Amino acid sequence: MISADHLERQLRTIIDGNRILPPQPSIPVKITVFPENEQQIGELVKWATKDRITLLPLGGGTYIFPGIEDLHVAISLTKMNHKIEHVSEDLIATVPAGMTFKEVQADLSSHGQMIPLDQPGKHVSTIGGIVSANVSGPSRHRYGTARDWVIETRLINADGEAVKSGAKVVKNVSGYDLNKLYIGARGTLGILTHISFKLAPIPESTVTFRSCYNSLTDAYALTHLIRREYLDIEKMVIIKGKWTPGKAKHWWVLIEISGSENGLKPQIEHLSKLHDQVEVRRWNITSKEDSQHFWNVACNREKSDDSVPKEDIWEVRMVLPKRELLPFLVDLSILGEMDASFNILPTSGICTIGIAGKESTVTDTLNSIIKEVKVKKGWVEFVKMPPDSNFERWPILPPSFPWMQKIKREFDPNNIFAPGTFIGGI
Ligand SMILES: Cc1cc2nc3c(=O)[nH]c(=O)nc-3n(C[C@H](O)[C@H](O)[C@H](O)COP(=O)(O)OP(=O)(O)OC[C@H]3O[C@@H](n4cnc5c(N)ncnc54)[C@H](O)[C@@H]3O)c2cc1C
Repeated sequence: MISADHLERQLRTIIDGNRILPPQPSIPVKITVFPENEQQIGELVKWATKDRITLLPLGGGTYIFPGIEDLHVAISLTKMNHKIEHVSEDLIATVPAGMTFKEVQADLSSHGQMIPLDQPGKHVSTIGGIVSANVSGPSRHRYGTARDWVIETRLINADGEAVKSGAKVVKNVSGYDLNKLYIGARGTLGILTHISFKLAPIPESTVTFRSCYNSLTDAYALTHLIRREYLDIEKMVIIKGKWTPGKAKHWWVLIEISGSENGLKPQIEHLSKLHDQVEVRRWNITSKEDSQHFWNVACNREKSDDSVPKEDIWEVRMVLPKRELLPFLVDLSILGEMDASFNILPTSGICTIGIAGKESTVTDTLNSIIKEVKVKKGWVEFVKMPPDSNFERWPILPPSFPWMQKIKREFDPNNIFAPGTFIGGI
């Protein structure tokens, strides 16, 4: 059992004392350090390897889950947050992993460019955390995920060395594309220090359509119609409950289209006609200011609901083959009785279900979700759950799991990077 005092004494030989702090309450480590450069991270990793110390790469700390046991040291990247290298003519930027997504987007937007990923729930989320969590939102419809936009990474590996993968050109890889492995690795393969992205131009104008339906099937009908049309859709999501302002009991579809001022007009007319073809309760086009509020709630960026105790909040994200998602959700009639919330990306087959309740009251529902998703060869992740729950965070292991274990052993032979925190206890 290594104490925080012992760790602090050791750490002071590598890093200045004022860069060593006790952890925030929600971060499952004994102590946090804030290195200033790659060299310090390299030294920390070499020390950890030698003394079998476990490390948690840390950004804004919004998406950290406890592992099998507490880790020793969190390496926070948030002081390594200086200077974006932006080559606007090439639509490419290299960003320090500790910089917040919000700051990066603000900087790039002054050049009319953006990293076309969704701003996550919290504004403290860092580039390194976003890439390592690899969660996507309504923009996935058009832009895909981080895997489509990251072209180069720098990572401190288990030997404490900085390794570069990919290159700052669009055809950026010869051989295996290691970047793809680091994206979504949740800090288990090394510590990302810099990430280069392809960028997208910010659309000249956008308009949001908001429509409301009695049933999920009606809401889906609109999204099916739209998919066959030639429209410049930026974002699309189906939501119900806590992901709508006012916690609506009906199903909503939010769609953002983009274009030049002139190019938008025919699209607006066309999309309006499509709305008139389906069983809609009501629909409207919202102003830019109003729509921001709807998108914020749909992306879970508004204040959390304090009326529900934290230990009773469950969020289960699942992915199914696209054609299977609607029938699966319609069959989950039990959820109607439970007042569940839904956040669905219909063109990706991804759905997050939010349920409030004590474990004893939600266990049957959660087990039936897991069972059905397994039958349909999808996967499930518990994004929010009480800390002492009996559920596995990733209850379905993919057939490739043994290969994942081998990769982890190869990249992190001493098991120092966030051990026990990822799928199957990797
Ligand atoms: C539309 C949308 C809505 C979302 N809403 C929410 C929400 O409401 N609540 C929520 O909790 N999440 C939400 N997310 C998930 C979101 O992606 C993460 O919360 C966020 O990206 C994590 O950023 P962070 O800096 O806080 O990372 P952290 O929480 O610090 O880290 C996240 C993971 O990445 C690893 N990591 C961090 N930095 C590095 C690094 N430099 N190198 C290697 N590994 C690293 C950590 O070890 C950890 O496993 C949402 C995402 C999207 C796209």
